[in-house]
Amino acid sequence: MERIGIFGGTFNPPHAGHMEAAKQAVTALGLDRLLLIPDRIAPHKALPADAPTPWQRLEMLRIAARDCPGLEVSDMELRREGVSYTIDTIRALETAYPKAELVLLMGTDMFLSFHTWRASEELVKKVTLAVFYRGQPEEREAVSRQKARLKKQGGRVELVKNEITAISSTQMRRLLAFHCADEFLPAGVGDYIRQNSLYDVNARWKNLPMDRLEEVVIRLLNPNRVDHVLGCRDTAVALARHWGADETDAARAGILHDITKALDGPLQLTLCAAHGKILSEFSRKYPKTLHALTGALVAERIFGENEAVVSAIRYHTTGKAGMNLLETIIYVADYMEPNRDFPGVGKLRDLAFTDLTAALRLGLEMTVEHLKRQGSELSPESREALEYLKQP
Ligand code: FE
Ligand code: FE
Repeated sequence: MERIGIFGGTFNPPHAGHMEAAKQAVTALGLDRLLLIPDRIAPHKALPADAPTPWQRLEMLRIAARDCPGLEVSDMELRREGVSYTIDTIRALETAYPKAELVLLMGTDMFLSFHTWRASEELVKKVTLAVFYRGQPEEREAVSRQKARLKKQGGRVELVKNEITAISSTQMRRLLAFHCADEFLPAGVGDYIRQNSLYDVNARWKNLPMDRLEEVVIRLLNPNRVDHVLGCRDTAVALARHWGADETDAARAGILHDITKALDGPLQLTLCAAHGKILSEFSRKYPKTLHALTGALVAERIFGENEAVVSAIRYHTTGKAGMNLLETIIYVADYMEPNRDFPGVGKLRDLAFTDLTAALRLGLEMTVEHLKRQGSELSPESREALEYLKQP
């Protein structure tokens, strides 16, 4: 009996993680073919307003899958009106391939919520479920419980051990905006994206007016970081007014300071590599601390910010010896903005408007304490900053 795999998703955009998973599925599950089926509208998530059209997603997937034996791209969900439900797709495939065994691919999250899907009890009898499963201890129990539950309903479940580092489409879109996505894009897809100006790859973001800058930045941040960033901007402007620094520079540095914070350690390294940045030993050891450096890089190259703004972003987490007024303001604003809440923040807020250098020193000292508790090392820049402040 022919075994046909079904791999649905938004593929927005299709990336190397999808293709690796698809190729692995063909081999691991012994599939005669694997259908890649982009959704018209995914029932589980809303697409951002700037997304490519469904037909452009289909085209990218065709480019990604060409020359891959066993992979076929299907437009069946795009041709159907309204929301795509898996059950409708499976009924259509049963008609098209009455003699085949249908194998539905999904990740662990989808599998664990399978009983909530539309017509899941009918669905489970029509297909074999193939679950991409990392085998992490914390998911093992939930997965085997769900497997037992579906078996009782007559379901067949196969687990595929997947060691592939999955990269989310949200992260992909950030990498595209920061011009460092190439290593995650299947051959030809990057060119298609550039030719069609998708995902902000060709956006002109240099010297944006403040309201546009804010819009763009919010789109690239993790939603839970937006309040912090807006708070940091407002605090930076208040401090700039108080101490006589450039308020526009303070606002721009404040809004941009955490622009790359949503990228995890490995993606920070990706961004540095794509922009030819050579890293210190400390940065390679603690790639999570890189967001200040990569933020400065993006502020300069993607947003065309001036030297003062770029430098304030560059040193907002570590500080450095001999910081200028704007650098100090951003460092302190980041520490004390209204959403921050930790012992000593009140004192820091008072000091910031009476003795800015003392506020900077307090911030650095609190960082030293915090890192000690965590068992992490202090960066060389922070050490130099403190030594500089101790000089008479
Ligand atoms: Fe930061
Ligand atoms: Fe911050």
